[in-house]
Amino acid sequence: MIRFDYARAADVAAAVRAGAAERTRFLAGGTNLVDLMKENVERPLHVVDINRLALKDIEDRDDGGLRLGALATNADTAYDARVQSRYPLLASAILAGASPQLRNVATNGGNLNQRTRCYYFYDTATPCNKREPGSGCSAIGGVTRIHAILGASNHCIATHPSDLCVALAALEAEVQVTGPAGERTIPLSDYHRLPGDAPERDNTLAPGELVTAIDLPAEGFADHYTYLKLRDRLSYAFALVSVAVGLTLEDDGTIGDARVALGGVAHKPWRSTEAETLLQGAVPSEGIFRAAAETLLKGAVGQGGNDFKIELARRAIMRALKQAADGTPQSQTDKRVR
Ligand code: SF4
Repeated sequence: MIRFDYARAADVAAAVRAGAAERTRFLAGGTNLVDLMKENVERPLHVVDINRLALKDIEDRDDGGLRLGALATNADTAYDARVQSRYPLLASAILAGASPQLRNVATNGGNLNQRTRCYYFYDTATPCNKREPGSGCSAIGGVTRIHAILGASNHCIATHPSDLCVALAALEAEVQVTGPAGERTIPLSDYHRLPGDAPERDNTLAPGELVTAIDLPAEGFADHYTYLKLRDRLSYAFALVSVAVGLTLEDDGTIGDARVALGGVAHKPWRSTEAETLLQGAVPSEGIFRAAAETLLKGAVGQGGNDFKIELARRAIMRALKQAADGTPQSQTDKRVR
């Protein structure tokens, strides 16, 4: 048996104080952490239960945006009337992920911090640099169907598994955190990191920092959006490739603003400023969608078992851009791609 102590934090300050101790994990919904503890992958000495913190609300912001409490559940977020009407891309991405049971307890903050589903990360009998830094990467040369085609390193080729974060990347959300050094704001694009030579670090949180909220800007791309997720099993599976798109269209039919983020292909939601600039001002067409897809996938490299993902991603990006431009977003109840 592996022993750890458990404490329930009464407020954010108490949680941050408790979180300063080495090998501490914050417990929210527990849908990932508890699994990892059962599998002996996470071995915290201290578990700080943050479920009683006042971080569950979803609130309008003065700038026209919306603040999502870190402890609001995925379900409460997806079914919030403001999220559904102003940020349907986010609602759609959440409903594309997990199962209703999981979404009822999984929190927004926890979703940001969920760990890779790399098979070897969970298999403590195999080397894994993310689990045991310096031990090696069993995925390289191994089974790589779910692994990265962009931004990988010689130390790790894992992907970030979230759907919600892919939509947050496209929406240019900001993450509010509180830690021993005070409060700060992290743009979503800077929150997750590429593996480089330190794959044990999934994100840019400093030790002891706690996510308190996620801020959405006013623009929600409610008229032209889609979240397209391609996976092995429609009922319930992580993305092989997913695409979040938000567009605005001008009166003359050209694209105004354009956001495209990819999931399932890298250690973080993947965006390309170059691809988005290419789309801005263009008339929606198969040709411009193809060019954007090629630009987004510049430098994509397969690992053997996931070579198919490059072509899959190219087609998914083109289909998602068409869905968004046409105003026909992907349904998350009838999950067939049309
Ligand atoms: Fe570990 Fe990353 Fe390699 Fe998977 S890809 S075995 S998580 S180092």
